[in-house]
Amino acid sequence: MIYDVKNETMPREELELVQLRRLRAQCERVYANVPFYKKKFDEKGVKPQDIKSLKDISLLPFTTKQDLRDQYPFGMFAVPKDQIVRIHCSSGTTGTATVVGYTKRDIENWGELMARCLMAAGASAADSVHNAYGYGLFTGGLGVHYGAEALGATVVPVSGGATKRQVTLLKDFAPDVICGTPSYALFLAETGLEMGIDIRELPLRIGIFGAEPWTNEMRVEIEKKLGITAIDIYGLSEVMGPGVAIECREVQDGLHIQEDHFLAETIDPQTGEIVEPGQEGELVFTTLTKEGIPLIRYRTRDLTTLNTTPCRCGRTTARMKRVTGRSDDMLIIRGVNVFPSQIETILIETEGLTPHYQLVVERQGNLDTLEVQVEVNESIFSDEIKSLQKIESKVMKNIKEFLGVTAKVKLVEPKGIERSRGKAKRIIDKRKEG
Ligand SMILES: [Zn+2]
Repeated sequence: MIYDVKNETMPREELELVQLRRLRAQCERVYANVPFYKKKFDEKGVKPQDIKSLKDISLLPFTTKQDLRDQYPFGMFAVPKDQIVRIHCSSGTTGTATVVGYTKRDIENWGELMARCLMAAGASAADSVHNAYGYGLFTGGLGVHYGAEALGATVVPVSGGATKRQVTLLKDFAPDVICGTPSYALFLAETGLEMGIDIRELPLRIGIFGAEPWTNEMRVEIEKKLGITAIDIYGLSEVMGPGVAIECREVQDGLHIQEDHFLAETIDPQTGEIVEPGQEGELVFTTLTKEGIPLIRYRTRDLTTLNTTPCRCGRTTARMKRVTGRSDDMLIIRGVNVFPSQIETILIETEGLTPHYQLVVERQGNLDTLEVQVEVNESIFSDEIKSLQKIESKVMKNIKEFLGVTAKVKLVEPKGIERSRGKAKRIIDKRKEG
């Protein structure tokens, strides 16, 4: 089912005309109202009127997360403060928080876009949605909330934490849809079993997961443990929050980008040159309708590939490959680039291991060391030491072979890795602490 047939299935030529009209208006707006952008445009010698086709976007300056931090808190706002009806901000774990503001229209658009996402995932107005995303400054909770209401569904605003209570509510309220982080979904399934409640036997049928990178192997695991279809959603607070892109339930091959509101490009992260659809590059977004904090060519640091061929679901919007490696999460171990998702794939594919893991990076002398701590499942735990050692060396061998890096593997007893209530903490980098 498609929520907004007109805009989600528009012929691409028509869509591109809408994008161009909105891009020009957006450039005019930021040039007139945001001193930061006026300066950036002037430095590049470009005026809003120079944008005559979508290709001319290459003339425009990029915006980075650092720019947003430098303008903390309200320097990027394009409307007077009295028109801002809501503020969210990023967690700021890696520096100053980035602040985003929304006008009334921005909030309405966000709700509509999230409603599109929920329907793309297979939800309808008749469904109820258990929303386990955190409510607060983080955009996840309220983003899903307004979308579910716009769709006309029933929303249960559980937020994160109080996991046993969540399981009870899943049983008693029998929701059709759950939203949250993928790692938390697994934690719910596990807690359910401890309480004698098998989530697979509940009516729950769809899970919409995001806010942390996850692999296809993780998807299979979640679908198996919860008895649902797991859908990947993508968003980032700087651009809007959840709802920038989502997989369609019918095809699940890439995430449809809401291109009438966000103009997507992929670029070579080194040179900044645009790369063609089909080639991997860093994802860059220009917001087309946002009023509170419009962004021009915002560099997401996420690597993906765009696909503009029509999808069997009927949507004409471009699809992005799921993001399994955020460049922010990338570890460099002795000069080798390693994404946690690559290790996740190896762990999930190893018999006897669970998807609960942590990567501990240290520096001994001048050498980086990587230790992979991973939980074994109950049935293996009682096995002899010998078979556990076998698993350890198999994982070490695979990591060396596939990723080219030497890692120590430490098997941990079931439930030995701390569970997160929101985004999973996969990396403990002690090099940064010292
Ligand atoms: Zn599709």
